[in-house]
Amino acid sequence: MSKETLNFQTETSELLNLVIHSIYTHKEIFLRELVSNASDAIDKLKFLSITDKGLLEGDQDFKIEIAASKDKKVIKISDNGIGMNHDELVANLGTIAKSGSKAFMKAMKESKKQSDLEIIGQFGVGFYSAFMVAEKITVATRRAGEEKAYKWESDGKNTFVIDEIKKEKRGTEITLHIREDKENPNDEYLEEYKIRELIKKYSDYVRYPINLEVEKKDGDKTEKIMETLNSMIPIWKKNKTDVTEEEYNEFYISKFHDWEKPLMNIHIKVEGNIDYTALLYIPSRTPMDFYTKDYEKGLQLYTKNVFIMDKCKQLVPDHFRFVKGLVDSADFSLNISREILQQDRQLQSLGKNIQKKIQRELENLLKNDRKKYELFWDAFGTDIKAGIYSEYGLHKDNLKNLLIFHSTFSDDKTTLSEYVSRMTEDQKEIYYVSGEDLESLKKMPQMEAVKEKGYEVLFLNERVDEFAIRTLMEFDGKPFKSVTESNLDLEDEMEKKILEESEGENKNLLDGIQDALKDKISKVKLTNRLKSSAVCLVSGENGISFEMEKVMKDIPG
Ligand code: ADP
Ligand code: MG
Repeated sequence: MSKETLNFQTETSELLNLVIHSIYTHKEIFLRELVSNASDAIDKLKFLSITDKGLLEGDQDFKIEIAASKDKKVIKISDNGIGMNHDELVANLGTIAKSGSKAFMKAMKESKKQSDLEIIGQFGVGFYSAFMVAEKITVATRRAGEEKAYKWESDGKNTFVIDEIKKEKRGTEITLHIREDKENPNDEYLEEYKIRELIKKYSDYVRYPINLEVEKKDGDKTEKIMETLNSMIPIWKKNKTDVTEEEYNEFYISKFHDWEKPLMNIHIKVEGNIDYTALLYIPSRTPMDFYTKDYEKGLQLYTKNVFIMDKCKQLVPDHFRFVKGLVDSADFSLNISREILQQDRQLQSLGKNIQKKIQRELENLLKNDRKKYELFWDAFGTDIKAGIYSEYGLHKDNLKNLLIFHSTFSDDKTTLSEYVSRMTEDQKEIYYVSGEDLESLKKMPQMEAVKEKGYEVLFLNERVDEFAIRTLMEFDGKPFKSVTESNLDLEDEMEKKILEESEGENKNLLDGIQDALKDKISKVKLTNRLKSSAVCLVSGENGISFEMEKVMKDIPG
């Protein structure tokens, strides 16, 4: 094969352009990104070698090596992982395949603020972030088990060159030719102390040794030796008390491609029917691709420190699909293929167990830190409500305790049990009113009589709310009732009698109105429910509310 020059995919070019010209606040993360790719590549090889020993080529001494030369102004990062063949090189380092970068590009396009460029660093656009410090990058790589090796080279502008090379060791070696930049010098990345610091800060948990080539003086002689920089203890295997908040957050940001620290982490070790360790995170805001088909739920699955798969869907139910994290369980045999894993019953029970833990953590948060819970609710409350009516209400009994709504009681949101605790003695039902805008709901004429009675009313101001409430039907034995239903039944016996009498007296008037509006309404009635308004519309007996009607009209079919 001769040398070929290929164009970056348009989106990649745009991304690279941003990366190269970004305000260099977080460019140090390039090292984290390259090390994490190297570690992923070793993970992949280890996994594949379970069924194909030949891939190891007799070398099981997995490691990542870093060497820097101040004279040549280069840093090399190499691994003996899976490597890439020709087509993988073109696909992986020529296009934007991963959703993280795509979401990032989308956000960049939507926002016009210059300062947002800073998020590149924290976000981590993977391999491409190396162009923040390098004017040229060379990648030499050979896929495990294959003969041919390739070199990929680019200045990150518009094209990259691929050429066949000789490479004996499998895996990938990445050479960064450090960019000279007077205003933002990159020289410090060539310094031993800086590399040490960055590996400790970002990559300490990496499970393979990260060795740095350092010079040791021995008398007159200086010799080069390899020194391991990371502790290699996966953060999830450490005791909670030995991990700082910052370390948890840093791990989340680098591992799960977010640029904001998480709202909370859930670090659990479970021993019993199933043994596992899980480190789960709740993001602090809705991911950009959350409502697109790009978003994939799932947790990373490890068994005895070996990575098995990335987005294991069985481990989280749909209503907790926002949870990110990983699960490590020794209970899986290493010989299982990913396909068989899909059906594994153990996996199902592991998923159930994790679901319970998340549920409990959220309940605790609701109890102990309402402010933080509201942040969670703003980001993911809709999913919890949708979870109530999904799967024919299978999860409703768990999820109902997580609901919070605005109500007439105060400006703060209320849980259903708090509502019930405030119900008056004669109140039999939980009242609600639904519509999109909180302010107009407060002013609805239908509310008057209920409020007069001193009953609290829930405001359901999101579209999914009423579906959720109707799936629940009741809470704590108290049925839900919309204040726009016609048979509100608020009157006592005396009041009912008076109403009946005056309905008789005004029969002509009522019939007249009924006649005039006959296509638009089904019945005209006298009511006690209004105090300051003259008329109001209500929905039919047992009928669906106005808001539901609107929602139903929007549903196709
Ligand atoms: P991500 O790691 O999120 O997939 P990156 O931009 O960091 O995104 O890397 C893109 C892809 O390039 C990786 O998914 C992987 O397939 C490939 N790749 C990068 N570095 C290596 C490496 N050291 N060894 C093998 N493959 C690599
Ligand atoms: Mg990566």
